[in-house]
Amino acid sequence: MVVIGEHRHTQVHVDLQAIKHNIDEEMTRKDPLTELWAVVKANGYGHGIVPVAQAAKQAGATGFCVAILDEALALRRAGLTEPILVLGIVEPEYAALIAEQHISVAVGSQAWLDDAAAVLTANKVTAPLAVHLALDTGMGRIGFQTPADLSVAVQTLRQPNSPFDFEGIFTHFATADQADDTYFMHQIHQWQALIAVVDDLPRYVHVSNSATSLWHQACNGNLIRFGVALYGLNPSGTELTAPYHLQPALSLTAALTFVKPLAKGQSVSYGATYTAQQDEWVGTVPIGYADGYERRLQGFHVLIDGQFCEIVGRICMDQLMVRLPKQLPVGTKVTLVGTDGDQTISLQDVADYCGTIHYEIACGLATRVPRVYTDVAAGLTE
Ligand SMILES: *Cc1c(COP(=O)(O)O)cnc(C)c1O
Repeated sequence: MVVIGEHRHTQVHVDLQAIKHNIDEEMTRKDPLTELWAVVKANGYGHGIVPVAQAAKQAGATGFCVAILDEALALRRAGLTEPILVLGIVEPEYAALIAEQHISVAVGSQAWLDDAAAVLTANKVTAPLAVHLALDTGMGRIGFQTPADLSVAVQTLRQPNSPFDFEGIFTHFATADQADDTYFMHQIHQWQALIAVVDDLPRYVHVSNSATSLWHQACNGNLIRFGVALYGLNPSGTELTAPYHLQPALSLTAALTFVKPLAKGQSVSYGATYTAQQDEWVGTVPIGYADGYERRLQGFHVLIDGQFCEIVGRICMDQLMVRLPKQLPVGTKVTLVGTDGDQTISLQDVADYCGTIHYEIACGLATRVPRVYTDVAAGLTE
């Protein structure tokens, strides 16, 4: 396969050791009987689904969560045999494929179970389809909302000759990353009222994303869906402090492709929105909004030679310009996310500037930017 972007010095670097460190911290902290499943949806939050899943497995993750069926299939194709839960709703027409690939799915309605059962029968599938019932306790996204609806679904799953394996039950919190826990407690009460109608709880009972596990550990259930924190990112942004050091795994670098003096009065980029106030040096960086480096980042900065350099003029689709402290050679390293010398630009800094969350920046990095992996500790032992 031809990798588009291989012949350009713009790369996402992923430190797998950081991922293992973050999982290790969580493994040490959690109840030993609670499993940790690594959430690797959206191409591992932009970090690369398969390498992240493999690193997570080495660090002790015993399963994976993804958002869509294709992500689960990608993990199976990569040879991973651990349990995989698809957190979103998969079309029931794929029920046979799901069952045959031993993938587990979130289910939030009786209609889904009926449709999937029909597909399994029509395809004469013998493997049971593993189901995690999603309970909507206040997230308002997917799931059963009433004890009555939930009871009917549980009965369906436990019928003699049911084509389903009732493997799990779960909910998702909307505000676990906030200091104010009023709404969180409301969801806890809803959760308790709902699961009270399930006599015999299934093997996996789970409520924790990263934030719930970090700040509401008491209600963990027996499985943590460990997402953003495994990438070293604080789920709350800057609102709450994590109980251990989260080590960011991702950095983003490029190299100057063009360097020129800009005379006072000359302008840069579309719209000529930037005009030099004095003679200065300007460098061109081969990354743009098509790479997921958002156009809104005009006026933000990058690191070159350990110094912050302002992004001047509009960010183009594939290139952007920065003001340099002095003439620098073409090929000089540019750090857009990460550390250079004593300075760091975090995904949080980028997100703050864009008025969004680091999740969006990380998973928005385009596939055109190759992911390069380092695993420092493994390198030392090999
Ligand atoms: C994405 C997701 C997670 C992981 O959330 P993080 O905040 O990244 O830890 C967990 N559970 C569900 C249902 C999700 O959709």
